[in-house]
Amino acid sequence: MNAFEKPQNQTDELFYQPQGNEEALFEHAYNHQLPVLIKGPTGCGKTRFIAHMAEKLGRPIYTVSCHDDLTAADLVGRHLIGKEGTFWQDGPLTRAVREGAICYLDEVIEARKDTTVVLHPLADDRRVLPIERTGEYLEAAPGFMLVVSYNPGYQNLLKGMKPSTRQRFVALRFDYPDEAAETAIVVKESGIEEAKARVLVKLANSLRNLKDHDLEEAASTRLVIYAAKLIKSGIAPLEACKITMAEPLTDDEATVSALTEVIYAIF
Ligand code: ADP
Repeated sequence: MNAFEKPQNQTDELFYQPQGNEEALFEHAYNHQLPVLIKGPTGCGKTRFIAHMAEKLGRPIYTVSCHDDLTAADLVGRHLIGKEGTFWQDGPLTRAVREGAICYLDEVIEARKDTTVVLHPLADDRRVLPIERTGEYLEAAPGFMLVVSYNPGYQNLLKGMKPSTRQRFVALRFDYPDEAAETAIVVKESGIEEAKARVLVKLANSLRNLKDHDLEEAASTRLVIYAAKLIKSGIAPLEACKITMAEPLTDDEATVSALTEVIYAIF
């Protein structure tokens, strides 16, 4: 097997370990054509959940990673110049509106507020997208769903989202999965033995409890999976945990040392 081939224990269907009744809530929101906002720390499963729900509901998905240079045209579309003159090219939001797909805006809080305003008429019962440049007034196809996510960590407290935007969404709060669920995720995603996964999850929870230690963010499920993958392929557990669950969290050496001590205590 080449290093980049899929392990045989992974099927093509995306694995998702539920944390509660979020699948049912999302499905009800979809059936009522309500937009959904998902908030939670980085690496806790928001993107995986949305990809899983898109698969379950049989909808295509257009994902946009938001940043502060994102313009309304990046979402809606723009005129381009080709060999035969100018032509209009739909942006991901417009494509999703036309096709009845899910449009997922990741880290929506990073986008400027004047950009997110284009979402307003789509995110209430009008479900329309006026495209000024082409004069179109697009009604969303029935399967269209708007989903946004962000991490409400303290660095985002000030940025916030305009109340007029956030009040258009059904909001689900995500967090790191409980021990049993996270162990199951780590086993499934890395192929490591369950007993080892359990130790890693315990360690992650101990590190998370140190959160006040000058750390913006605790070790995410994503990082626990990285550690498990490296251990499975032969890296010593101490080193694997240091480079996945301590170093990525901070540049402050004293804090890395404090985190490493916790790692030593567990192994
Ligand atoms: P987020 O979008 O919250 O930053 P992701 O959805 O990308 O995080 O999750 C990071 C990784 O953690 C995923 O690629 C997946 O491997 C794993 N993961 C986290 N939560 C779950 C879950 N509930 N079920 C399956 N995998 C999960």
